[in-house]
Amino acid sequence: MVGTKIAIDGPSGAGKSTISEIVAHKIGFTHIDTGATYRVIAYAISRFNVNLKNEKEIRFLLDSINIDIKFLEGKQFIYLNCEDVTDELRSPKISSLSSYISKFPFVRKKLTHMQRKIAEDKNVIMDGRDIGTKVFKNADLKIFLTASLDERAKRRYEELEKKEIKTNFEYVRKSMKERDTNDSKRSLSPLKPATDALIIDTTGNTLEKSVDTILKIVRDKLSELINNKK
Ligand code: C5P
Repeated sequence: MVGTKIAIDGPSGAGKSTISEIVAHKIGFTHIDTGATYRVIAYAISRFNVNLKNEKEIRFLLDSINIDIKFLEGKQFIYLNCEDVTDELRSPKISSLSSYISKFPFVRKKLTHMQRKIAEDKNVIMDGRDIGTKVFKNADLKIFLTASLDERAKRRYEELEKKEIKTNFEYVRKSMKERDTNDSKRSLSPLKPATDALIIDTTGNTLEKSVDTILKIVRDKLSELINNKK
C-alpha cells in the first residue's frame, strides 16, 4: 500500500517527533517533522538579519532561499541553501521565532505545498500542528498527542540539557505556554484536534508506553486498511 498518510498533531513537547520517528521506523514509513520546515525559515530570518516587522523582507527571503529535505536511515535532514542546518534549529530562540512566523499566510502556503510534495507517493507519518486539519485533511489516521504543560516543559528542558543548550526550567515552561497560546489562537490553521482525531494524553507515561500505545493504534489501522482492500 503506497500513499498511506498518518497525521500526528499536538502542542509543543508532547513527544510527537520522537514517537513518530520510532513508530515510522518500526512500520517502514517515512517520518516527516513539519515543525522543522517552520524552524528553518525562522533560522534563515535570524541568520540573514531579516527585519521581522517588514513583511516584504520576509517574503523576499522566502523567494530567495532554497530549502531541501533529505532522509537518511529514517532521520530527516534540513538544508538551507545546500548547507545542513538540522542541528541549528532546536534553540529556544528559533522555537519562538518559528511560532511567530507561522501566522503568515504566505509562509504557511509555501510550507504546506512543500510538505504535500515531499509526502507524495510515500507512506508517511507526518507530525505538526495542522496535518489532520489542513495538510492531509483526508489522512488515513489522525492522532492528537498531548500531555500536561508541566510534563511537556520538563521533557523539553531535559532534551535541551542533553544537547547542552543553556536554559532554565521556568523559561522553558513560560515560552512553551506562550507558543501554544500563539499556535492555538492564530486565525490560519490553528493548533486544534481534527474532529475525527483520536486524542491521546501521554501525561505520566514513559516514552516506551507512549510508543506502544501509538504503535498499537497505527498497526490496527493498517490491518483495517489492508482488510478493506481485500
Ligand atoms: O513542532 P515544532 O515545535 O518544531 O514547531 C515549531 C513551530 O512551527 C510551532 O510552534 C508552530 O508555530 C509551527 N508549526 C506550524 N504548523 C506545523 C508545524 C509547526 O505552525 N504543521
